[in-house]
Amino acid sequence: MNFENSLSFAKKLDRTDPLKSLRQKFHLPKVNGQTALYFTGNSLGLQPKATKSFLTQELSDWAALGVEGHFHAKRPWLYYHKFSKKALSTLVGAKPIEVVAMNQLTVNLHLMMTSFYRPTASRYKILTEAGAFPSDQYAFESQLKMHNIHPDDGLIELMPRQGEYALRTEDILKAIDEHRDQLALVIFGAVQYYSGQFFDIKKITEAGHRAGAYVGFDLAHAIGNVPLSLHKHEVDFAVWCSYKYLNAGPGGIAGTFVHETHASNTTLVRLAGWWGHHEKDRFQMKKGFIPMPGADGWQLSNVPILSSAALLASLALFEEAGIKNLRKKSVMLTGYLEYLLNSIDQHHEHFTIITNSKADERGCQLSILMKKNGKKVFNALTKNGVIGDWREPDVIRVAPVPLYNTFEDVFQFVTLFKRALRK
Ligand SMILES: *Cc1c(COP(=O)(O)O)cnc(C)c1O
Repeated sequence: MNFENSLSFAKKLDRTDPLKSLRQKFHLPKVNGQTALYFTGNSLGLQPKATKSFLTQELSDWAALGVEGHFHAKRPWLYYHKFSKKALSTLVGAKPIEVVAMNQLTVNLHLMMTSFYRPTASRYKILTEAGAFPSDQYAFESQLKMHNIHPDDGLIELMPRQGEYALRTEDILKAIDEHRDQLALVIFGAVQYYSGQFFDIKKITEAGHRAGAYVGFDLAHAIGNVPLSLHKHEVDFAVWCSYKYLNAGPGGIAGTFVHETHASNTTLVRLAGWWGHHEKDRFQMKKGFIPMPGADGWQLSNVPILSSAALLASLALFEEAGIKNLRKKSVMLTGYLEYLLNSIDQHHEHFTIITNSKADERGCQLSILMKKNGKKVFNALTKNGVIGDWREPDVIRVAPVPLYNTFEDVFQFVTLFKRALRK
């Protein structure tokens, strides 16, 4: 697509956008009485207008039915974890049996690592990207310590080459191969939260399996952002949160994927709870844990209905839009942002875009590494109605989200950014 650097061109793209009606289905925050330029859907997605009625439904059913809501609510609470399966499985490219909404991301990461990180004396290392999200780093470190392995010995963190910001796939594959006799687990943030790099899930998974390791992904910045094919690519497990691109609200219920090949493997060690017990006799309250086949067998507790209701409201919008259509628009939106940023005079003096320049190696986020006055520029943007994201020491992350951001938003952002650079 040949972009043009003008407001009229941005507006034309909005007019011809087949997904343009979706923006009206969200509450857009205001700054100083004006609709904000919201570019932080990678941190907290906006509230769908329908969320309130989904929540109200559960509150009304609870008020009217009490405990009977487990069976007689409009969406019976007893089966609530089943209602999100179809939409979630579409988003991650899985079968319904392979996914379940539960807990929070970090909790799910620990649950998955309990099952899929089973170090032996010779095969005990975890390979991941350097600078993973802190919660993931703490999870890896504490899991290693639980097995009496020193993190300096057990954790391999891959860094980009000198002068580069993204890991090259060939370097990742080489590292996996070099450590093949010692690797127990390969785990990456599918879309890296800081750099915005979208890793090659297929190749990393193949290499990890060739090495004899399990392979997992943290989809915090990938689900609802990029189409995924976890089943086809034979990923062993994945975890995600739902308050970023999924718009399920602050602290929303997270999710887990476990590949079908492990669905009935009862020899996998796991931490168990009653909601993971086979549903056919869960309420007979008997001794002896028999897991539900598939991801459901990793559930611990009964379902948090209110946060799950908010998830259903947002998933309905993904089903309406279709992740492939969203991705198509997203590639254009982010491409337009990149084009406009690169059109700024002497932009190299001011900043470097550290996110990969190829569309299939990134999601919607661009990370702008500021070379000077970064915080000042960011503060000026904030004052002018941009809700963006500053990451120490010097990165502004900008995520135009195809569900509710427009090409005009992107144009206005770059106009303000340019003005702030000149100050
Ligand atoms: C957002 C994010 C988290 C947050 O973890 P919670 O358990 O949801 O608080 C963890 N890991 C990554 C990669 C993230 O982007």
